[in-house]
Amino acid sequence: MARYTGATCKLCRREGMKLFLKGNRCATAKCAFERRSYSPGQHGNSRMRTKSSNYGLQLREKQKVKRTYGVLEKQFRNYFVKAAKTKGITGTILLQMLEQRLDNVIYRSAFAPSRAAARQMVLHGFVLVNGRRVNIPSYQIKEGDEIGIKAKEKQITMVREQSEELIKQRPAPVWLTADHKELMVKVAALPSRDDIQDIPIQEQLIVELYSK
Ligand code: SF4
Repeated sequence: MARYTGATCKLCRREGMKLFLKGNRCATAKCAFERRSYSPGQHGNSRMRTKSSNYGLQLREKQKVKRTYGVLEKQFRNYFVKAAKTKGITGTILLQMLEQRLDNVIYRSAFAPSRAAARQMVLHGFVLVNGRRVNIPSYQIKEGDEIGIKAKEKQITMVREQSEELIKQRPAPVWLTADHKELMVKVAALPSRDDIQDIPIQEQLIVELYSK
């Protein structure tokens, strides 16, 4: 399964905002964006000052969302195609589909410090959906699903300790009912657009980009 393997912090610097891709490190002074809040590369500093075209704005918005959720271009376009075929507001449906990814649910439940770490947990087979092991990070959860963590005692202890800290910084959203002692989460409802507010997203720009 393909995934981005380049420098993570460069992605935040390129998008001109913190995308919180590295978990705990993002909240510290070590954050690369805090130290150099301009684009990476030799001309990065001057690039930030130039005015973007309409296309440039649309492209950046798409890249920002893709990078936030850790999805590559082909898969992201597939999400868009599916969203466009679904009844409703395409941009909102696109974001809802990204939120319903299993790796995102693990991250949102504060069981993992970043979506990348959540993805690893899923790939390593630590995650059960309704009692069955699911090792597909893009698996779409449904309302009523119960998600649990199953691993060796040592790993469970590690996840539990980590999650106790994480929950203080970012509580689980209202659409997820998480039990951090049991490491279980129930999908109480599907996410609405209002539930997706941690980074500013103008999804309409993505719809315009792909509708050309
Ligand atoms: Fe982005 Fe986190 Fe790196 Fe800061 S530390 S630049 S927020 S990934």
